Amino acid sequence: MATMRAAVVREHGGYDKVRVERIPRPELEAPDEAIVRVAACALNRLDLFARRGLTGPGVRGVHLPSITGVDVAGEVDEVGSAVENVAPGDRVVIYPSLSCGVCEACERGEQTMCRRYRIFGEDTDGGLAEYCRIPARNLERLPESVSFVDAAAVPVAATTTWRMLKVAGLKPTDRVLVLGAGGGVGSAAVQLAHACGAVVFAVTRGQMRVDALRRLGAQRVIDRAREAFEAVVASETDGRGVDIIINPVGGNTWRSAIKSLAMGGRMAICGATIGDTPELSIREIYQSHRQILGAPMGNRADFREVLDLLYRGAFKPAVHAVLPLEEIAEAHRLLEEGEAFGKVVIGVSEAG
Ligand SMILES: [Zn+2]
Repeated sequence: MATMRAAVVREHGGYDKVRVERIPRPELEAPDEAIVRVAACALNRLDLFARRGLTGPGVRGVHLPSITGVDVAGEVDEVGSAVENVAPGDRVVIYPSLSCGVCEACERGEQTMCRRYRIFGEDTDGGLAEYCRIPARNLERLPESVSFVDAAAVPVAATTTWRMLKVAGLKPTDRVLVLGAGGGVGSAAVQLAHACGAVVFAVTRGQMRVDALRRLGAQRVIDRAREAFEAVVASETDGRGVDIIINPVGGNTWRSAIKSLAMGGRMAICGATIGDTPELSIREIYQSHRQILGAPMGNRADFREVLDLLYRGAFKPAVHAVLPLEEIAEAHRLLEEGEAFGKVVIGVSEAG
């Protein structure tokens, strides 16, 4: 039996619970599937949650043993008999939302609203391995001009970010506040909002991130160790507030964030990394026509739009580090300890 190296979680716990092992290679199980030889796989909070065994509202438990890894770029190795969109040898990037393809939500192109929605690399074995299995319809071709590392850094973070900016109705005249701006979503939000012409306020911690966010286009970077963003936004918008907030962090940022929104302002949310049950005032929301908009991921069209920006060179994701598979535990640590700026990517094969 052919084998491969993979980062496997057999029990929940600390960094030592994700280990590289040699296990059987996945094989095609249906005619519409493909086997992808993984070149690069970016980490997300999901990988950390799966290792730690996070529980709580809205958290689906992962099956153990688990191979996570949602953001994958690589080369098609093998395809089933019914596959026509890709062929062995094609460079590809994975759209990680798995859906039924036939329900009303899928018909509308809203794959993540499918009642049978699942996430590749969370609900199935993912890409932190030399090979992975995926429905071939989830593959998008990758031009030679784009590296596997840059492609792997895009799917979850940048697609979710683009979706948030779209549902919030971003306009070039808007003022946008980005919380958690040093993360994968946050750094993409700064770049994409800036590219659309908006004035961007970014909140982060530490001089390295402050400097990096200025280079990505943030007009005003707020170091939360030194300044409170609510006061900065109030003083620098003459008390008016910002039109849009991108908030991937949640927790105790909510009340100040909502008060930083202008009349009719929108806060788009995609995560709760520092807390899931914030304190808030209902009156502070509705009395100022403010809206809160959820976006767990983007649909296929959102993903293609972001890929188009990547392929044209209009967007380049911030990549903090590319580590080999053997350093998966260190990659988890970089992300979990908040030491990374942007994405942490695992280069799985030499092709990465
Ligand atoms: Zn469906």
